[in-house]
Amino acid sequence: MDYNGIIYVVGTPIGNLSDLSDRAKRVLSEVDFIAAEDTRVTLKLLNHLGIKKPMISYFEHNKLQRGEEICARILGGESCAIVTDAGMPCISDPGEELIKQCAEKGIRTEVVPGPSAVISALCVSGLATGRFTFEGFLSVNKKSRKEHLEALLNETRTMIFYEAPHKLANTLKDFYDTFGVRKLTIARELTKLHEEIIRTDTEEALRHYGDGSLKGEMVLVLEGATLKEEKAVTLEDAVSIAEKLIESGTKASEAAKEAAAVTGFKKNDIYRELI
Ligand code: SAM
Repeated sequence: MDYNGIIYVVGTPIGNLSDLSDRAKRVLSEVDFIAAEDTRVTLKLLNHLGIKKPMISYFEHNKLQRGEEICARILGGESCAIVTDAGMPCISDPGEELIKQCAEKGIRTEVVPGPSAVISALCVSGLATGRFTFEGFLSVNKKSRKEHLEALLNETRTMIFYEAPHKLANTLKDFYDTFGVRKLTIARELTKLHEEIIRTDTEEALRHYGDGSLKGEMVLVLEGATLKEEKAVTLEDAVSIAEKLIESGTKASEAAKEAAAVTGFKKNDIYRELI
């Protein structure tokens, strides 16, 4: 491996430490320094692996200035691994800005893929996996959350949301209010001792978990909309409506007018077929 002037995006376990790959271990032990979301959390992982490595904290509120610092070190020839507290960096986690900065500066980037809650939850959801959208965390702001969900009303792809337990009750209510009854999988504590895959629907979920009693880390996987295929109405259908009206005593011109009103065809086109 060439460890000069490179940044590695390294996935770490979302619960079970055995999910850390050999390659992740090797990269973490061989890079010059690690950019970590929370150095205390990463220190525990490094201690578990028996790795000693200089770390620099990189999180939401220092990301721009720290990003420049990290890029400068990499451009100076050092190698860096970015890790977050759990899962893949850059996915609802710090890293996105840093990798953008690296891309702008032409810094070589490699990924060391590891578990990610979004894909793990989708795989066990039992819902359609062919096409899906990742919606991240819903806003805590009621209005933004409502707008976000309403924009998804006709989304046919499976939708995946990250969720914090204290917000679950509100989200389940908003899901039911916005989408009505839809299949919903709650993937909780994945890869941990109390892992639980709850395959339910929005109504039942609100009834059972609307009191906020469900704890732990969780991902919500929501079934996409089934758009009813509206059968196109033909002129033949319009004429048949008019014929039925005539059979029940309506005059042909009136029947054509009424059939036109409900089907959108022109009254004259219908009338012409009747005489
Ligand atoms: N970047 C991470 C990833 O790729 O999985 C996600 C980080 S995000 C800040 C944390 C959220 O991921 C949690 O609130 C939860 O929705 C989800 N999550 C993380 N670990 C999980 C687990 N073991 N089981 C279920 N959901 C998990």
